[in-house]
Amino acid sequence: PKQSSAAPAQITVDLDAIAHNVSVLQSLAGDAVVMAVVKGDAYGHGLVPSARAALRGGARWLGVAQLAEAIALRDAGITAPLLTWLHAPGVDFGAAVRRQIDIGVPAIWELDAVAAAAREAGETARVQLKIDTGLGRNGAYGPDWPKLVDAAQRHVADGSISVTGVFTHFAFADAPHHPTVQAQQAKFADAVADCERAGFALEVRHMSNSAATLTTPEAAWDMVRPGLAVYGLSPVPDIGDPAHFGLVPAMTMSAEVTVAKRVPAGQGVSYAHTYVTDRETTLIDVPCGYADGVPRSASSRGPVQIGGQRFTVAGRVCMDQLVVDVGDLAVQAGDEVVLFGDGTKGLPTAQDWADAAGTISYEIVTRMSSRLPRVYI
Ligand code: PLP
Repeated sequence: PKQSSAAPAQITVDLDAIAHNVSVLQSLAGDAVVMAVVKGDAYGHGLVPSARAALRGGARWLGVAQLAEAIALRDAGITAPLLTWLHAPGVDFGAAVRRQIDIGVPAIWELDAVAAAAREAGETARVQLKIDTGLGRNGAYGPDWPKLVDAAQRHVADGSISVTGVFTHFAFADAPHHPTVQAQQAKFADAVADCERAGFALEVRHMSNSAATLTTPEAAWDMVRPGLAVYGLSPVPDIGDPAHFGLVPAMTMSAEVTVAKRVPAGQGVSYAHTYVTDRETTLIDVPCGYADGVPRSASSRGPVQIGGQRFTVAGRVCMDQLVVDVGDLAVQAGDEVVLFGDGTKGLPTAQDWADAAGTISYEIVTRMSSRLPRVYI
């Protein structure tokens, strides 16, 4: 990618890759529609441009965690159906109701607050009930589920809400043979039946994240809800790289060399000299660090590509920079260094950085900070 002149390091986002990935997911989802999950600034790719690309690729819905993210999409003029699913007491549900944003509701306090906001706005709130079928996280659990359904029935009767959907989230979708995958599907089928008995006019019943969309098509119901795969990354590293599914990584992280210098053997590199040169060599300074989201835990391990060759970060990742020992490769200020991008093009990947940092590719792309300009191609 071409460097932007404004910043020494940048994120390049291939919007056609996002659109393509959604079409791949749609073909796997069969008759189910795709909700592209764009929370967390579209996993670091940029909320609005990524959302538009996902819609262009065929996504019918967009999903976010926080109401502010949904409002930002509406403010950008996006009229597609939106679901937001994580709210703390005090959130302004009226703002969601007025914008026709579906509200994911896991608890009675929230249902009552949504219904009150809808009455005040003089509108009917669109609510999707969330059941915890075994993740042990957000969602109505055990005896709270039938109570939530009963409360929803009362609010439907008084016209303050309509229940447009029911959903849940997997704990082990990346391990499709794990027994919880079946168990959660069975519990979800019961929850759907509860909603149907209650007479709700459900538009969507959904449970599949990226991993389930890729590996467990029978869980698709009316809609799949992938996030990571939309950005071309594999949530199932065991199955292999994203190309296995025809997914194309959308994000490339790159920087321009600021300084290249010859040093003798025995030169300690970066803070605390955890790396020491073993021969005369060239060190290059790469202007990105943990303020940009490059994990310090990948010190001495993170891969970079320069001039078609692969190297490893030498010593500590600093706040704004890191150093690479490139040996005798001819490098000069301004040359491009790629930290991660599309593995099929021979570049190191977000998964490589995740392995180096002891985390998951989700975190690598999502943590890329706002200091890095997003350049869209
Ligand atoms: N649905 C819900 C409720 C989520 O919280 C998430 C993200 O964690 C997703 C879907 C998308 O998950 P993934 O990125 O694994 O596809």
